[in-house]
Amino acid sequence: MTVFHTPVLSREVVSALSVRPDGTYVDCTVGEGGHAAEILSAVEPPPRLLGIDLDADALLSARARLAGFEAAVSLVQGNYGDVGGLAAGAGLEAADGIIIDLGISSLQLESPDRGFSFRREERLDMRFDRRQARTALDLVNMAPAPELAELIGSLGEESRSRRIASAIVAGRPIETTTELAALVARALGGRRRRIHPATRTFQALRMSVNGELDNLRSGLEQSIALLAPGGRLAVIAYHSLEDRLVKRFMAAESRDCICPSELTICDCGHRASLKRVNRKVMKASQQEIRANPRSRSARMRVAERLAV
Ligand code: SAH
Repeated sequence: MTVFHTPVLSREVVSALSVRPDGTYVDCTVGEGGHAAEILSAVEPPPRLLGIDLDADALLSARARLAGFEAAVSLVQGNYGDVGGLAAGAGLEAADGIIIDLGISSLQLESPDRGFSFRREERLDMRFDRRQARTALDLVNMAPAPELAELIGSLGEESRSRRIASAIVAGRPIETTTELAALVARALGGRRRRIHPATRTFQALRMSVNGELDNLRSGLEQSIALLAPGGRLAVIAYHSLEDRLVKRFMAAESRDCICPSELTICDCGHRASLKRVNRKVMKASQQEIRANPRSRSARMRVAERLAV
């Protein structure tokens, strides 16, 4: 039996998007089709859905999971940072709901040849899109120490990034995930922690290889342009950097003026395009966390497109 990725906060996603049979929905990170399947089966007849993913293997898996919904679904390989262009390419003028579920799927983490996990020895890779040239192997073996320190510090929020970067440069060549994880653990030394000492470094490398924050920024902006008035945007983030970006973006887009507070007269001309639906971030219940540990760090924020 194939075991698919368990979608996080799936009931909450369907209700946040207020799925209707005559609506059009875009799943920016369709992955293994978990959220997409929930959206398609929430109402009868199933609504129209465009599913996007950078990963060709994910799309194969989504296609299998969404068998039976072919008439309602289009799946495309692409970057949701260009969701506007991808939607236009699929013939969509506007969307009534958009979901962005960040992070990595179970398929990617469990596949032995994707090089994301330090739980098993794998050749370093970490690309969502295997057509892309640059891999984590290149980054780890070729980037100068200051660049590594900078990205591990900023994207990993790792305070000892300089020490890790020097250890990486001294330890080259580094081929595999377990080699890198052991090297980081040695560089940091000290007591055993609840999470592996290399977790932050791996997160930073993955985010850098895939340009994740840039994609998120442009995906959020393009989503606003694509949403029909009253349409909803739901974003699920798994760590604080991403969640902060989403929170600030939604807050700024919900305000008419975004001038710095020291200015007494507004000169930005900015107009609110969104209304926040849940001011408080939504999290998984204890029950969901027990059933699906991946949901532990999930933070969902939802906003609605204003008519402008
Ligand atoms: N919601 C999905 C799981 C998503 S996991 C489900 O329920 O099955 C996150 C997915 O986002 C991964 O498959 C990853 O390949 C994809 N992804 C990451 N960045 C992307 C981007 N910029 N554009 C499109 N897909 C992306």
